[in-house]
Amino acid sequence: MKLEPVIGLEIHVQLKTASKMFCGCSNRGEYEAPNVTVCPVCMGHPGTLPNVNAQAVRFGALIGLALGSQVAGRSKFDRKNYFYPDLPKGYQISQFDQPIVAGGTLEFEVPDVGNLKRTAKVRLTRVHLEEDAAKLMHSEDGKSSLVDYNRAGTPLAEIVTEPDFRSPLEAKLFLQELRLIMRYLGVSDADMEKGHLRCDANISLREVAEGPGERAPVLNAKTEVKNINSFRSVERALEYEIQRQTKLWLDGKPPTKQATRGWDDVRGITVEQRTKEGSSDYRYFPEPDLLTMNLDAIIEEMRPRVPELPAQRRARLVEEYGLAPADARTLVDDAPLADFAEKVFSELAAWIQSEQKGADLETLKPEMARLVSGWLLTKLNGVLTELKLTFEESKTDAENFAELLTLIHAKKVTGPNALVILTEMVRNGGDPSDIMNAQGLGAMSDTSELASVAANVIVANPKVVEDWRGGKANAIQFLVGQMMKMTKGKAPPEEARRLIEAELAKLK
Ligand SMILES: [Zn+2]
Repeated sequence: MKLEPVIGLEIHVQLKTASKMFCGCSNRGEYEAPNVTVCPVCMGHPGTLPNVNAQAVRFGALIGLALGSQVAGRSKFDRKNYFYPDLPKGYQISQFDQPIVAGGTLEFEVPDVGNLKRTAKVRLTRVHLEEDAAKLMHSEDGKSSLVDYNRAGTPLAEIVTEPDFRSPLEAKLFLQELRLIMRYLGVSDADMEKGHLRCDANISLREVAEGPGERAPVLNAKTEVKNINSFRSVERALEYEIQRQTKLWLDGKPPTKQATRGWDDVRGITVEQRTKEGSSDYRYFPEPDLLTMNLDAIIEEMRPRVPELPAQRRARLVEEYGLAPADARTLVDDAPLADFAEKVFSELAAWIQSEQKGADLETLKPEMARLVSGWLLTKLNGVLTELKLTFEESKTDAENFAELLTLIHAKKVTGPNALVILTEMVRNGGDPSDIMNAQGLGAMSDTSELASVAANVIVANPKVVEDWRGGKANAIQFLVGQMMKMTKGKAPPEEARRLIEAELAKLK
């Protein structure tokens, strides 16, 4: 028997609006003392009336437009009734049969055999708007609970997918791409650890048909896994469930009832919770205090505001600048860094054109891409790590960074000394040419001067020269290193190697 997992996700995205979903309370309650950002509306006092937050509706429409979904012209809110201490009204205002968004797809890359990637495509069922519940905190001894109502009424967009995932890894990669899209749209910080992005996963197993057309795919009773708080736990929780359910299948007792289980991150297991209510248990009915919304104007307002999305930006960075796909991905994952890189590219093109009249930028593209990815993604990261700084704390700007790359490109400074200059730029800012001149870090260009250094190195290292004679391959590298040391990193490495080799050739 061959089983395959069938996984669907329900994601709650906390929307970054100024106020709550149905009242004027601040939506930044998570940064305030408990139970401060509350009012009679979000506390469910009798006689109060909700007001829809237009910005949350705009964000909902923007999400739908970005995901290629159908944004509804008419949409309404419904009451979802249940009792729980975190729900002051005794019902949650949500959307049932007329959600703001229906359909759509999200494509993302998944590792395939070897180093290849394939594009996975997941269909979206819907996106609806709703309000969040309060936050419950249970004491360690389990004897008491505290409620913080600051979160009650926070706007959420719930994104529901079709059961299109076939592996825990796919689910994780989808969530990471979705997080990035929410950030690019500016609708949420989408920080999973802070609960701005929360995920429940539905999972069941089914037998794989042996031959084509043998059996129509059937969906079995699914298990909903809750309390998933990180990308890592998405993968771990689903892997655990696959193992648990596989065992049930092999024992001849596959799950027959829909169930809810909670993920215990510490123990690395899922634990059975209450049996899930069907939607009829919630006694949904249209929210009588709110009118059906006509969204035509908002859809037209938001349509031109869909920004360039991460996937489009990756493709453009590869196309426009000749960056490697992996480098484009690293940049796009960090929008401020990608913005910086694009400024560096444009400054670099301007520098090169002013230094070399009539330079063909198209021919120089691979070289520029190599410079930017090497120095921005590798070297700068190393400097930041060493100085214990974040990219935002770095004092350098794109113009100076590009000028440094021009100096490297024109061989006016060697790699090791460029790193010294970069460190100074990150720490205190400043113009790389000024730093280079002030600290005497410019590359040596006088060949006869360099040749005499090479001759001195040979004389000073007779034992290494013997090793070279004996065929020791890294002897040359050592001598080049000595030459770099004697010139304080100012000898161009290729030139140093050429001159050392020339000196050694004389000894033959
Ligand atoms: Zn309120």
